[in-house]
Amino acid sequence: MKYFVKVFGCQMNQSDAERIATYLEKYKLKLASSIDEANLIVFVTCGVRQSAEDRVYGQINNIKKKYLDKKIVLTGCLSHRKDVQRRLKGKVDLFCEIKSFPQAVSPFLKGGLRGILNKQFNRKNLSSTLPLVKGECFDYLDITLKYTNSYTAYIPIMTGCNNFCAYCVVPFARGREYSRPADDILKEVKSLVKKGCKEIILLGQNVNSYKNLTPTLSLSRRGSEKKINFPKLLRLIEKIPGKFWLSFLTSHPKDMSDDLIEIIAKSKKICEYISLPAQSGDNEILRKMNRKYSIEHYKRLIKKIRGSFQRFNLSCTAKVEPCISTDIIVGFPGETKKQFENTAKLLREMKFDMAYIAQYSPRPQTLAWKMKDNVSKKEKERRDKMLTDILSKTALENNKKYIGKVVEVLVDKRFDLEEFRAPARKGKVEPWMGKYLAHTRTQKKVIFHSNKKIPVGIAPHHNASELVRGEFRESQNREI
Ligand code: SAH
Ligand code: SF4
Repeated sequence: MKYFVKVFGCQMNQSDAERIATYLEKYKLKLASSIDEANLIVFVTCGVRQSAEDRVYGQINNIKKKYLDKKIVLTGCLSHRKDVQRRLKGKVDLFCEIKSFPQAVSPFLKGGLRGILNKQFNRKNLSSTLPLVKGECFDYLDITLKYTNSYTAYIPIMTGCNNFCAYCVVPFARGREYSRPADDILKEVKSLVKKGCKEIILLGQNVNSYKNLTPTLSLSRRGSEKKINFPKLLRLIEKIPGKFWLSFLTSHPKDMSDDLIEIIAKSKKICEYISLPAQSGDNEILRKMNRKYSIEHYKRLIKKIRGSFQRFNLSCTAKVEPCISTDIIVGFPGETKKQFENTAKLLREMKFDMAYIAQYSPRPQTLAWKMKDNVSKKEKERRDKMLTDILSKTALENNKKYIGKVVEVLVDKRFDLEEFRAPARKGKVEPWMGKYLAHTRTQKKVIFHSNKKIPVGIAPHHNASELVRGEFRESQNREI
C-alpha cells in the first residue's frame, strides 16, 4: 500500500504534509516515488490565490481521467469550501480539514488496503466533522515527525489567524489563532537538536502574536513563566544547548515589539532573516486592507531593526546585516496608479532583499470579495514587473555587500550527475555539476566548489568572496 502527498502553497502546508506522511507511515503505508505508483494521494491545498486553486483542479482531473482506482483525500485550505466540494464531487474521496486529518482518515487506515479501497471511502464524501471555531482539535500538531530533511525542520508554533485582512482567506480556511503549548515546542526542538538538526524554522501566520496561555508542566515547575509571548519563547529555545540556527516566519508589523527586535539583534542563534510583509506602501490601501498599521510605522520598524543590529552586533562575528523580506499585493481593488507609486517608492527606499509580489486575486468569503476587482490583469502584470525590477536592483545591491566577506553557510547538497543526466545527454555541460549548494543565515543561496568532501549541515567560514565573484545567486522563487 503506497501513498503520495502533493503539496501546494506555503511552508505551513509543507510542514502539514510532513505530519501527514508520518501519520500514514504509522499505518504501514509506504511513500510512492510518484503519483502513478500510489494507491492513496493526499492533496494539501492552498486557497490564497485562484492560480493555486486551479492547479489543484487540473491535477485531480488528470488523475481521475487516467486512474479510477486511486483514492484521493483533499485537505488544507480548500477542504472546507462547499463550492470546491461540489466541483470535485465524485473525484475526491474524502474532504477533511487538516485539524481533523487523523480522526477523519484513521477509520479507513485501520482496515489496511481493504479499508482504503472500501466503497464507503468515496460514497460518503465526508467533510470535516469538527467545528471551525471552538473545541478544535490540534492533535495533528503533536504527531512526532519523521523529518524529510534531517538538518532543517519547520515547526508550527501556531495556526490560524484573527486578523481578517480584507483580501485574505486564511482566517476562514484555518480558523482562529491557536498557539501551541510552549512545552511541546521546546520538547520538539530539543529532540531535533539532539538528532543533529541544524536549522529550526518556527512557523505561523503571525508568529509574533504567539501567546502560550496553557500552564504547562515543566514551565510551571520553573515558577512564574506560565504566560509566554513570542520573545519569551525565543529566549527559551535559544537556551537549548547545541549549535543550531533559529528563524521564524511570518511577522506582522503591528505586533513587532521592541523586545522582539532586541532579542533578534542580540541572539547568536537567531538568524538575521526577517519576513515582514508590508502588502502596500499606501496608507489608504492599507486601511482598506485592514492591516492596522501605517506606512510610517512600517518604515520606522525597518529603521529600528537595522539600527539595533548595528548597535548590538559590532562584537558578534556570527551575525551579518539583517536581510528583510516583504510581501506585496499589486492591484488591490481601487488601487490607483498614484497609490501603486507609493508602493514602488517603498521598495526603492527600503531596499528589500526579497519581496514576494502577488497580483490581487479575489477570494470567496473575504471582505474584498465584495469590492470591484477593477485593476485589469494587464495593469496588475505591469505593476508586478515594475516592482520585480526594483527588487532585482536592491537585492543585487545588498548581495554585493557580501563580496570579500567570510560567512557561515548551511550546506544543502552536492549537485550530482543524476540531476544533470538529461542535459548531459544533449551535450550540455552543466556548470554546477559537482559543486555544493548552500544557504546563508539570511537565506541567500550560495554555490561553491570544494576539493574537500563536505558533509551537509552548518559549515562555518567558507570563503564567500570567491562565490560572490562568479556564482552567487539570489533566489527569486515565488512559493505560491
Ligand atoms: N500572515 C502573512 C501572510 C499570509 S498569506 C501576513 O500577514 O502578511 C501569504 C501572502 O499571500 C500574503 O502576504 C499576501 O501577499 C498574499 N495573498 C494573500 N491573499 C491574497 C490574495 N487574495 N491575492 C493576492 N495575494 C494574496
Ligand atoms: Fe491573512 Fe492578514 Fe492573517 Fe496574514 S495576518 S494570514 S494576511 S489575515
